[in-house]
Amino acid sequence: MRIVIVGGVAAGMSAASRARRFNPDAQIVVFDRGEYVSYGACGLPYVIGGEVEDFGDLVARTPEQMRARGISVRTQQEVTGVDARAATVTVLDREAGRTMTEPFDRLLLATGVSAVRPAWAQTDLGGVHVLRDIPDGQALEASVAGARRACIIGGGYIGLELAEALRARGLSVVLLERGPEVAGRMLDPQLQAQVREELERGGVDVRCGVTVEGLTGTGRVTGVQTDAGLVRADLVVVAVGVKPNVELARAAGVRLGKTGAVAVNARQETNVPGIYSAGDNTQSTHRVTRRSVHIPLGLPANRMGRVAGVNMAGGNARFPGVVGTGIFKTFELGVARTGLTQTEAEELGLNAVSVDVTSTDHAGYHASSRPIHVRLTGEKGTGRLLGAQLLGRNHLSVKRVDVVAALLGTRATAQDLFDADLAYAPPFSGVWDVLLVAADRLH
Ligand code: FAD
Repeated sequence: MRIVIVGGVAAGMSAASRARRFNPDAQIVVFDRGEYVSYGACGLPYVIGGEVEDFGDLVARTPEQMRARGISVRTQQEVTGVDARAATVTVLDREAGRTMTEPFDRLLLATGVSAVRPAWAQTDLGGVHVLRDIPDGQALEASVAGARRACIIGGGYIGLELAEALRARGLSVVLLERGPEVAGRMLDPQLQAQVREELERGGVDVRCGVTVEGLTGTGRVTGVQTDAGLVRADLVVVAVGVKPNVELARAAGVRLGKTGAVAVNARQETNVPGIYSAGDNTQSTHRVTRRSVHIPLGLPANRMGRVAGVNMAGGNARFPGVVGTGIFKTFELGVARTGLTQTEAEELGLNAVSVDVTSTDHAGYHASSRPIHVRLTGEKGTGRLLGAQLLGRNHLSVKRVDVVAALLGTRATAQDLFDADLAYAPPFSGVWDVLLVAADRLH
């Protein structure tokens, strides 16, 4: 049994490790076109911000360590073609400049996503960056050293994490967002302003409703041209979204879903026998709506990879789907969401209602207590929980989103949440945790 895996980060490496454990005799080969494998891309903003010392600290296992576990890892080798009938892949060795044909019995596409680069961002100007992998991070780090004014384009979570990181490095930061507010895709409009206010408290100049038209400079970037004038900048980060890497899938005759990512069943199998797909390049099923979604995040990528690894090695594992849980911090503010927002629920035609509770994360009288806001969304009539959004001034406090995330997977009601026997002591929560108060109001 020869298992070939394309992509050696979260999904690919989880699959390789799991397949190795499940089938000690299988030959497992991982190809990655990059130099680094098995690392936590989620940590990149924290290296830039100085909270993590070195990019190398993000690497979980080196290719040598993987080889010692019986997994052949081949870096700087790009898979450029798939012949599903012949069960072979074409591989370009980027260092040697030669092409090889490699056979497979099972093939996993774990090719991730690429940063979207609008036409104006497709430039050779120095100081213009995206952030997807370690080399991107190293290039950004090299630019930060000589820069004074940064302009971040995009108010999603990566843009917001980087805003804090670049402020920590002493740069002035302008953040441009085309939509009416930052964190627009994560939160209901009622909550978005709090995120912008936190950025402003941290010294970020946030400008929403602004469309970028181009970049200025010769050799090196000097500014960002927008429909609201020129923003001077010697460092620009483009963080306007991602697109799944599906070229190989397409070439192999693998079906894509409505989201544009690879369509798979719960075993991570594509429509082509023997070919699996997992991670950011792959869509999944939303457990609340039962619809196909493309939510490229770390835990689902690792989990899909694990499932694919077991199944490719002859086992039977199933991916349960996602509920759309996400979390980030910017300055002091923690932001988390799971399930559906009120806006998303309404767009899907659900009869949804939301309650808002502002309280404290710990017992109000305790010195560590900070404000927290919970917006809980449920279905009118049935009481079914649909989602939660949390904003907390102690950023760790919003991790309680996990309680709702766990319940959403079981189609629980607000009453079920209210009945949960949550942990309590004054330095952790109020006796009636803010989630319980919200559930009480919702049911
Ligand atoms: P990737 O990590 O993208 O890996 C795909 C690999 O495939 C790449 O190494 C690529 O070189 C390789 N590849 C692609 N095509 C080929 C080919 N043809 N031949 C050979 N190799 C190929 N998620 C969270 O849940 N929480 C966070 O806080 C968070 N923060 C993030 C911050 C940043 C800055 C970034 C960039 C991502 C963050 N993520 C976060 C997302 C998370 O990192 C991804 O969900 C995860 O890395 C996806 O893993 P993957 O294996 O599917 O894809």
